Amino acid sequence: MLNFTVGPVMSSEEVRAIGAEQVPYFRTPEFSAVMLENEKLVLKFAKAPEGSRVVFLTGSGTASMEASVMHTLTPADKALVINGGSFGQRFVQLLELHEIPHTEIRMRKGSALKAEMLAPYEGQGYTAFLVNIDETSTGVLYDIDLIGDFCRRNDIFLIVDAISAFFTDPLDMTAKGIDLMITGSQKALACPPGVSLIVLAPRALERVAAGKTKSMYLDLKDALKNGERGQTPFTPAVGTLRQINARLRQIDRNGGVDAEIARIGALAAYFRAQIADLPFELVSESPTNAVTPLHPTTANAYEIFTILKDEYGIWVCPNGGDMKDTIFRVGHIGDLHNEDYDTLIAAFRDLQRRGIL
Ligand SMILES: *Cc1c(COP(=O)(O)O)cnc(C)c1O
Repeated sequence: MLNFTVGPVMSSEEVRAIGAEQVPYFRTPEFSAVMLENEKLVLKFAKAPEGSRVVFLTGSGTASMEASVMHTLTPADKALVINGGSFGQRFVQLLELHEIPHTEIRMRKGSALKAEMLAPYEGQGYTAFLVNIDETSTGVLYDIDLIGDFCRRNDIFLIVDAISAFFTDPLDMTAKGIDLMITGSQKALACPPGVSLIVLAPRALERVAAGKTKSMYLDLKDALKNGERGQTPFTPAVGTLRQINARLRQIDRNGGVDAEIARIGALAAYFRAQIADLPFELVSESPTNAVTPLHPTTANAYEIFTILKDEYGIWVCPNGGDMKDTIFRVGHIGDLHNEDYDTLIAAFRDLQRRGIL
C-alpha cells in the first residue's frame, strides 16, 4: 500500500513496531513519564507560551474541536468563524449546537483570506475567532499573521484548528497570539487515529477554569487535573500515546518542528514541480504544505481515486460532498519520500496512456 491520503497516513517503522507490541497497563509511573514527555515536546513544537498545557483526548480531532468550543466559549461570546470547506462547516455546526452566537465568514472554495474580508468586523465587539488554519478539504492555508494581528487588535480569543497543519506549516502560538490549538494523531503526527490534542495557552486555561460546562468524558478541567501527574481520567488509547511519544522523539532527534516542516515542504514542492504537464488544475490559492488538492480537467476525480486504489495499490484522497467528482487530493504527510511521488507520477502517466486521464 502506498498512502497519499490526509489521514490515517503512513507511519514509520519505529511507530509501527510499537503497534505490534502488547499494550501495557497505564496507571504506572512509567506511563506517566511518557505522557509528561509528550506534553513537554508538544509545548515546545507548538512554541506555546509559558504556563501552557496540553490535553490528550482519546477521540478523533472532532472530539477536541467540540471539547474546545464547549469549554472556552459561552452564549455570552460573539464568535467569528472562517468557513471555507468541510472543516470550517464543522466549527459552524459546533457553534450552532452549543448555542454560541457567531458570524460566519464564508469563503469561496480554494480562496485565500484577505485583509478586506476581516475589515468589516473590526471593532464590532467580537470575542472569539475560530479557524481551521489549513482547511484540509481545499488545501488552503489561511494567513495566520493577518488573523493573529486582527485578534490582538480587537482583544479576541483565538482558537486554531491545526489538525492537519501542525508539523506541516509554521505555527508559533506565542508569536501569533494563538490561545488554543488543536491537532490529531493521524495527520502529520503520522500515528494511528484515536487521539487528539488541545494545547491551551494561559488565556484558554482561564476560560476553562471559569467555565461551567457539564460533560463527563470531555471534561477538560478533569483532564488538566489528571494531566498534572501524567495521567488521564479514563483509559486512554495507551498504545497510540506510546506511538506518539516515539514520533515526537523522532522529530526532536531530527532537528525539531522546523526541520519537519522543511521536510514536508520539500515533498510538496517535489510533487508540484512534476504535475505541470498533467491535466490537473491546482485548487488552492494559498497552498499548505500538507496536501495538494487537484481538479482533473479530463476525468472524474472519484474515478481516479478508485482506479488508483483498485489497480495500482495507491491511495490518493477523495473529497466528499459536492467536491466528490471534481477534486481529489495528494497528501504530503506521513512516512513518504520522493520515490513514492515518482511511483504516483508514473501511475498518472500510465492513466494518460490508457486514455483514462
Ligand atoms: C482531519 C481534520 C479534522 C478532524 O477530523 P477527525 O476525523 O475528527 O479526526 C478536523 N479539522 C481538520 C482541519 C482536519 O484536517
